[in-house]
Amino acid sequence: MKTHYDLIVIGAGPAGLMAAKTAAEKGLDVLLIEIKKNISIVKRTCCASFYLESDYMSETNQFEEGKLIFPKNGFTVNYSGSYWPITEKYGFSPEGHKWHMVRFESEDYSKDSPLSLVLDKGALLEGLLGEAKKLGVTFMNGTKATKIENTEQGARVEIYTEGRYLQKEGKKAIIADGVNSHMVECLGLNKNRKVKGSRCMFLEYVLEDTDVPYPNAVLNFFGKKICKFGNILLWPNHEGLSRILAFNTIEFSKETKYPASTIDYFMNQSPFASWFKRAKVIEKTAGSLIPLEAIAEPCLGNILAISDAAAFIEVENQGAMMCGFQAGNAVFDELKGSDGFKNYVDWWKRSFEFNNPELLKGMAAIPAFSLGGFSDNDVDYLFSLIDGEDLFGTCSQYKSAAAIWIAIDKHSERIKKENPAVAAKVDAVMDLIS
Ligand SMILES: Cc1cc2nc3c(=O)[nH]c(=O)nc-3n(C[C@H](O)[C@H](O)[C@H](O)COP(=O)(O)OP(=O)(O)OC[C@H]3O[C@@H](n4cnc5c(N)ncnc54)[C@H](O)[C@@H]3O)c2cc1C
Repeated sequence: MKTHYDLIVIGAGPAGLMAAKTAAEKGLDVLLIEIKKNISIVKRTCCASFYLESDYMSETNQFEEGKLIFPKNGFTVNYSGSYWPITEKYGFSPEGHKWHMVRFESEDYSKDSPLSLVLDKGALLEGLLGEAKKLGVTFMNGTKATKIENTEQGARVEIYTEGRYLQKEGKKAIIADGVNSHMVECLGLNKNRKVKGSRCMFLEYVLEDTDVPYPNAVLNFFGKKICKFGNILLWPNHEGLSRILAFNTIEFSKETKYPASTIDYFMNQSPFASWFKRAKVIEKTAGSLIPLEAIAEPCLGNILAISDAAAFIEVENQGAMMCGFQAGNAVFDELKGSDGFKNYVDWWKRSFEFNNPELLKGMAAIPAFSLGGFSDNDVDYLFSLIDGEDLFGTCSQYKSAAAIWIAIDKHSERIKKENPAVAAKVDAVMDLIS
């Protein structure tokens, strides 16, 4: 059995697949290792939105039938799966007051342009794998990478496959095994990484026959009356289908339960239960993560850690494909004798919002409504102030949470007069994000 390759890639998610394909396109001999037997069956929750905002993650993604386009990075991904447009976002308070986000202020989109498209992730991965295999990538599925180390000549990866341990050698290796990467830990790159936030569990059901009256909107729900134990997001997923997604943070409160309790409560007892009277669960996915800060220099010797493996939580599918593309090229450049890894690290630092401390502050705004500081009455009151406004929409997790608080804060004089205790809490959130 062959043991030596130009490049070993660990993980066949969007990042690893793109890295393997890109390196093979450049003529490198690539081994791709994946623990799953069938990568098109997605079990780890992912809402699979493909975001179409200008300058999002330093890219302006575009969609054409059959193509996901990355003009600034300079590549295109063939995609023949289904897609469903998301044009709005809403946040609901317990009594049904809501904030509303659409993209309407930016010049290059009309009010009706989608913020994102929900893709079929299984089809995306399957398509990339097919192309990688055609280019000669050796794919070992059902195979777990168990150790990685630098050697004088390159990198050594220990794998477990068909009941035995084997060693594989690469001139270079790419770690793309996802968030809370075991390979990054093994290489020692987690040493100085701080935990930023609480450990989080999530569960998602795909439902059919729902009566959700917002077929093209992502819906966020706030307040104990709606989400007794955690947070709920409702994501459209093609005609008549919805994804219901529950997040529970472990350190959240004494009341924390598993995400299934959050979903059960929401579907059966919340004010929105009537939307789910006929609903049937047709698929379940789940996962958990510990939010670690991003690795500033995600490479060591001959090994590069890319995408979620090195990120603060996630780079999302499109960021993952960008990382894979840049990393595949970086390995090719390194093997030619130029500074591929250094250029990759420079690109990594300037491309992702979590590498920008100013934008990262926006994270503080995300849990503010749900972490107990605001009562259900407070949330009702605050959302009622901006109900009916069209807020500037953005896909950024960091900017969009802050945008809601900025809209609320425009009413600060009124809040001070009507509700001084809430005004003090709003000021505290604004201090965190400004
Ligand atoms: C709740 C939730 C919702 C999300 N929604 C969206 C969304 O709407 N849009 C979006 O773009 N992104 C979304 N994401 C993020 C997206 O899923 C990730 O950012 C993306 O999948 C990262 O790609 P990756 O290739 O780095 O890692 P992954 O997709 O995690 O792929 C890693 C691969 O490595 C394999 N692997 C792991 N360990 C080993 C090992 N030891 N040996 C061999 N193989 C291994 C895994 O099986 C997997 O196939 C969401 C994530 C979560 C948690």
